[in-house]
Amino acid sequence: MCDEKGNAFHDSESEDVGDVADVFDLYTACNGEVLDGVLNVRKLDELSEEEREVLDVPRLKELAAHVVSGCAHCQSIVYTLNRARLELRMIVEESRIRQPQPVGANRAD
Ligand SMILES: [Zn+2]
Repeated sequence: MCDEKGNAFHDSESEDVGDVADVFDLYTACNGEVLDGVLNVRKLDELSEEEREVLDVPRLKELAAHVVSGCAHCQSIVYTLNRARLELRMIVEESRIRQPQPVGANRAD
């Protein structure tokens, strides 16, 4: 299966930055939910009316279909975003643990 649609998103190899921005929009619209390494694009159907007004949903859906069709380039962007997100979450949680508890709040014993 090698249809024309597949490459429409990557006409030029020099437009990597645009790709990342587009996939980032899709990633955030999907709440960053990744199942088995694949972005959960069904989240696009769960967007609220307000979110739909802000986002270009038809365009995101088009991109989503392209990403889940197995484009290695876009998958690697999703992978990178997901990894960064997980790392960021770990850093935040670590900083919370390290923060001194306020005196008198929830003492262990
Ligand atoms: Zn792609």
